[in-house]
Amino acid sequence: MPSLSRSQCQALDDSDPLAYHRSEFALAPGLLYFDGNSLGPRPHAATAAAIDVVDNQWGKGLIGSWNDAGWFDLPQRLGRKIGMLIGAGDGETVVTDTTSINLFKALSAAIQIQRKRDPRRTVLVTERDNFPSDIYIAQGLAAFLDQGYEVRLIDEQLPLASALGDDVALVSLSHVNYRTGAMYDMAQTTEQIHNAGALAIWDLAHAAGAVPVDLRAGDADFAVGCTYKYLNGGPGSPAFIWVAKRHQNTFWQPLTGWWSHTSPFDMADSYTPAHGISRYLCGTQPITSMALIEPGLDISLSAPMDHVRAKSIALAELFISLVEEHCPGLDLTLITPRSAEERGSHVSYFHPHGYAVMQALIARGIVGDYREPGVLRFGLTPLYMRYVDVFDAVAALREILLSRAWDQPQFLKRNAVT
Ligand SMILES: *Cc1c(COP(=O)(O)O)cnc(C)c1O
Repeated sequence: MPSLSRSQCQALDDSDPLAYHRSEFALAPGLLYFDGNSLGPRPHAATAAAIDVVDNQWGKGLIGSWNDAGWFDLPQRLGRKIGMLIGAGDGETVVTDTTSINLFKALSAAIQIQRKRDPRRTVLVTERDNFPSDIYIAQGLAAFLDQGYEVRLIDEQLPLASALGDDVALVSLSHVNYRTGAMYDMAQTTEQIHNAGALAIWDLAHAAGAVPVDLRAGDADFAVGCTYKYLNGGPGSPAFIWVAKRHQNTFWQPLTGWWSHTSPFDMADSYTPAHGISRYLCGTQPITSMALIEPGLDISLSAPMDHVRAKSIALAELFISLVEEHCPGLDLTLITPRSAEERGSHVSYFHPHGYAVMQALIARGIVGDYREPGVLRFGLTPLYMRYVDVFDAVAALREILLSRAWDQPQFLKRNAVT
């Protein structure tokens, strides 16, 4: 079946129910942004929020803003909004710290719960193809715990079913793989993990705001995720952590800073954890950065997820079919699952000169990114992307590959951040 023409793409844009949201983001004319899965663009409303938090709340309100501007409750208030996007119940999510730090807390709490139930469970399972920080945090925690704790990596040789022995304490997986875009069936996989007596920790970095997530229906135990990717919270904006109600008060996480205390301003000389999700905080929050998350969340909350998902699938189908039709024999290998149910919201291709090809695309204002080894990654973000963007990007990709325009010194030189 032939893929769409540019005018057919234009017609899809004209009837797109999400098209309005593009005007809510600052995007330079002519820029085709395929990297919202790594750093979402700035909502226009974030500028007003920045001025308010810096000029008014900090500048004028000073210390009083901890009470008067709602700073103290900001992690819980924003957590409630994120909770609505990931199928959380009330009081199950807070915004705080980084995804890596939150993962450390979640893994530690899960280990503590399992120690009580069955101390022989000393294996932390994660995936060789997981985001490196997720592997490193598990390795760091196992080394810190010592006492026989170890990390077991699943891969093609050792699939999850074979890794789930009666020594496994927890399984930590990314819902959507950062490199390939492959997506787990959360409910089915969590059930498999629970049937083996282990706890399930989900990293939603490439899922929150991108695909339907229902943590409660999926019976997950813990979850963490970013706000600066599909949620458009700004560079390095604080992350979130979700803990199932049934676990919240069973154990506490080891970063027992005063913000996780039941009454921080008692200044007590011993630790009593807060009741509920607040015990997953640690210290004073980065308020100026955290305040900028809300505008992006409000946009996501105003866009029905079934529309977002339908458009994400349509954009991916369009990308893949255009490449199949226009780029045969040009050394591109799709590494993203071909079936929509097994895919998140980006598409990735291997090319032997992937890095240089991506630099040549970026030089033409088509911004995706590169991930080792040899992977061109294209984020598909339905809130502000157009079908014609996909058409134009694939046309440029074809031209760059056909003409070998990537084969120039300025495109071969590696930057620190790829
Ligand atoms: C982006 C990403 C992270 C980033 O973690 P930080 O602590 O924010 O650097 C972690 N895990 C996954 C799966 C990611 O995609």
